[in-house]
Amino acid sequence: MPDPIHSFFNTDLIIVGGGAAGLAAGITAGETGLRVCILERRHRAGLKILLCGNNRCNVTHDADLGGMLEAYGEPVAEFLQPSLDAFPPARLRSWFAAGGLRTAVHRDGRVFPQSEKADDVVHFFTDRLRELAVPLVLNCPVEAIRAITDGFEAETANLTLRSRFLLLATGGVSYPKTGSVGDGQRFAKALGHRVAPYRAGLAGVEFRQEWTQRVGETSLPATEVRILSAGRHVATTYGEILLTRSGARGPAMVNASRIIARETLRDVSFDVDLHPGLDEKALVARMPNRGGSPAAAIVKMGLLPDGVARDFLKNALRGEGSDAAGIARALKHWRLELKSIRPLKEAMVTVGGVVLEDIDPASMESRKRPGLYFAGEVMDVDGPTGGYNLHAAFSTARLAVASIARRLGKELPPIASPRPERHPRGNRPRGSGGSRTPRSGGARRTGRRRRT
Ligand SMILES: Cc1cc2nc3c(=O)[nH]c(=O)nc-3n(C[C@H](O)[C@H](O)[C@H](O)COP(=O)(O)OP(=O)(O)OC[C@H]3O[C@@H](n4cnc5c(N)ncnc54)[C@H](O)[C@@H]3O)c2cc1C
Repeated sequence: MPDPIHSFFNTDLIIVGGGAAGLAAGITAGETGLRVCILERRHRAGLKILLCGNNRCNVTHDADLGGMLEAYGEPVAEFLQPSLDAFPPARLRSWFAAGGLRTAVHRDGRVFPQSEKADDVVHFFTDRLRELAVPLVLNCPVEAIRAITDGFEAETANLTLRSRFLLLATGGVSYPKTGSVGDGQRFAKALGHRVAPYRAGLAGVEFRQEWTQRVGETSLPATEVRILSAGRHVATTYGEILLTRSGARGPAMVNASRIIARETLRDVSFDVDLHPGLDEKALVARMPNRGGSPAAAIVKMGLLPDGVARDFLKNALRGEGSDAAGIARALKHWRLELKSIRPLKEAMVTVGGVVLEDIDPASMESRKRPGLYFAGEVMDVDGPTGGYNLHAAFSTARLAVASIARRLGKELPPIASPRPERHPRGNRPRGSGGSRTPRSGGARRTGRRRRT
């Protein structure tokens, strides 16, 4: 008589991790008719998805293959090319629509569920898993993985499962409360893979100019940030800088943090252009040439928000002088020095993970352990803000399942036509889709919010 708790369960595929990659893989496997089971550590699947995009979930970016590859940059782009090619943003959106989740493209290319609710994305996954009768076991942390003859064994406190193929989709190591604590990297290492050291990607930064943390939460909406290492220009990021008491965030700064981590840059400073749309001459022309305080004038012209202008003029004017030309130069070349990057647990993604050379990009199969596959952030894969990280998780998951299916003599079914939109819990879309009203162009103080 087998022990009723420690019984064995045989299946084609065990997926370890019920986050973005694991859930997408589970559905794809279910749609293909594989015998599959997802094991999830936490009491709820997709906890990190719920946090995405300020709880609105920026699921992908409306870009073609070239645009996607350029955004990831090397070495990630080369590795992701086969998965992006097979499952570009347009196909992901069709797949969502086939399951009843409609998405909308914002003016800047970011794609969100039409309802703008991350909850609906998680419901899409769990509803589809239920329809396909794919088992999703919650509160089930995998404690060890063993390679056995003809497959793998995943051990949990109460169950030992066996399967021919195993997919590690356990995520990175940021926001550990969502369940991603580095288990997958530990399992991969024990099975002979190399793991690149972890660094915080897409995190806030602190400047040596500490006054920037005392001005209150302030949005500088359209900046150009030249990243310098030992005075040498390395890369440029664009978009909002959000000054907060705990450092600067916003796409321009968090994307800079990822580049600093990826390229292990030292002695970093930033040359910030607060008005990339206007050259110095045009800025000077806008400034009143006599009377009034310069701070009041630049606030009135919308060049800097109230509260920041005075401190900026006190601290950011170096040798330029406080005449119109000097102020214009300072607005175009605000020099800030990096003090530190916020800790990894606060980062949106982990730079580092299972090294890409140990994985075949054409199949997501391990080069060290045949039959073992990877998807999502457990690998040394990351992208900028804008939907690229979720897209990497979804597309690598799909490629892994397609490769496993082929080994079992099966093909993924074609993506079905869109099904009528579901508003499962009475959710109504906030708009009719398409782009949202653009934000005003001027610099402004903000209320409390968290924006990537
Ligand atoms: C605040 C925040 C906002 C973000 N916003 C966006 C956004 O808008 N757009 C975007 O593209 N990206 C965004 N990201 C990044 C994105 O969420 C991740 O890149 C993505 O979730 C990675 O997917 P994954 O499946 O690899 O890992 P995860 O989603 O982290 O899932 C891993 C899962 O594995 C489970 N697990 C771990 N160990 C075990 C184990 N031993 N046994 C069983 N299960 C285990 C975990 O509990 C977890 O559920 C954001 C991240 C954060 C933190």
